[in-house]
Amino acid sequence: MYYPDNLVEEVRARNDIVEVISSYVRLQKKGSNHFGLCPFHNEKTASFSVSQPKQMYHCFGCGKSGNVITFIMEYENYTFPEALKLLADRAGVALPEIEYSKEEKERDSLKSRVLEAYREAGVYYYKVLRCDAGKKAYEYFKNRGLSDETINKFGLGFAVTGRNLLYNHLRSKGFDDHLPYERTRRYDGHLLEQGHFPDTEREQ
Ligand code: ZN
Repeated sequence: MYYPDNLVEEVRARNDIVEVISSYVRLQKKGSNHFGLCPFHNEKTASFSVSQPKQMYHCFGCGKSGNVITFIMEYENYTFPEALKLLADRAGVALPEIEYSKEEKERDSLKSRVLEAYREAGVYYYKVLRCDAGKKAYEYFKNRGLSDETINKFGLGFAVTGRNLLYNHLRSKGFDDHLPYERTRRYDGHLLEQGHFPDTEREQ
């Protein structure tokens, strides 16, 4: 996958970094730079700076830095072409259609299938939290002071200890065994990272 340098440069130049980052982070002008709370690490005082003249950002706290394209890649967790597409659309720059190779197409459809499974798993854990099996976990969340709004916003769920429950559920939703084991493992890991109740069912 390849875009010519001058096209990448045009997309970058037509997306002012302060304007773009302002739609994600509240920035305040101080001297020649803009400052805000860093979106890449947790902080209470603003050490994330954006320079309009240089069209670069830099965080004095965590050291992340880059240009408008790397910002979108980092923030949205996008690949380079995905970030470029977002910014090209934003600035009204037409990107040429890219010819994907057979391998790239297969990888893309696999990726979207894994993401669908991930979403379905989230919905499943969410439903479990709201039924009898999840009653204790729900009470635990409430006792920890989490409101229903917070539970919904972060999609918190509950995984019952038991073999193959999620696996069987996904199978019943038409997901097949062709999703590689490695990947399913990974999204189980992600679910945990995202704060699902830490009593996870083990994958088979
Ligand atoms: Zn930072």
